[in-house]
Amino acid sequence: MPDLLAPTKPMKLLIIVPHPDDEVYGAAGTILDYRAEGFEVGLITLTRGEAGRNLGLVSSKAELAALRAGPDGELKQCLAVLGITQHHQYDIPDGSVLNANFEETLELIIRHVQEYQPEIVLTFQPNGSNGHPDHIATHTLVYTALERLNRPCTLWYYSASLEYMTELFVQKPELEAGYVPPNVFKDVTHRVGLKLKAISMHRSQALSTVDFFRRFAERITLESYHQAYPPLE
Ligand SMILES: [Zn+2]
Repeated sequence: MPDLLAPTKPMKLLIIVPHPDDEVYGAAGTILDYRAEGFEVGLITLTRGEAGRNLGLVSSKAELAALRAGPDGELKQCLAVLGITQHHQYDIPDGSVLNANFEETLELIIRHVQEYQPEIVLTFQPNGSNGHPDHIATHTLVYTALERLNRPCTLWYYSASLEYMTELFVQKPELEAGYVPPNVFKDVTHRVGLKLKAISMHRSQALSTVDFFRRFAERITLESYHQAYPPLE
């Protein structure tokens, strides 16, 4: 990783998501750019992803959790490519972020934001991007945590342009109500090699990868976010 140095600047970006792999598809290029500039980037992963697909690679949820989120697992391999060293892995049951102890999870998010004082926090938008209940619950948790802290930083949500959402809106009309369009765009064409390498570390999630490529091919080189606040002119 020749251009990813030990961080010498404060935390630029703190990503808070429920699943191993939620960090990579929409933000890998942005992460690599910030790391190359010497900024710290942090990641909080709330679940170990044991409810995901296993493609027959393992035979139990415990084995899938270890494969995805274990000490030498897929996520750690992905983070080595991205140059993220500040990572906190939690073990809230995958699929149950909403039903886990809300106040407890809120407290841990508040603690990490206070600890790192990031310039930007990134999470899912109100519709959870694809409606996954863990994505929606994580949005609510992060939004509530930052409200309790009086909005100490910039808040970004993953956001794909409307034209790429049309197919999903036909399948799941309820997604349209909570949708917010992108207003921050990052051209990460120069990061495409490392981004694809980082994505490929999540081997067990290969179907998610091809689904992402089919639906959002343009987002491989153009990452897009909705800045919720402070408001953009
Ligand atoms: Zn996810």
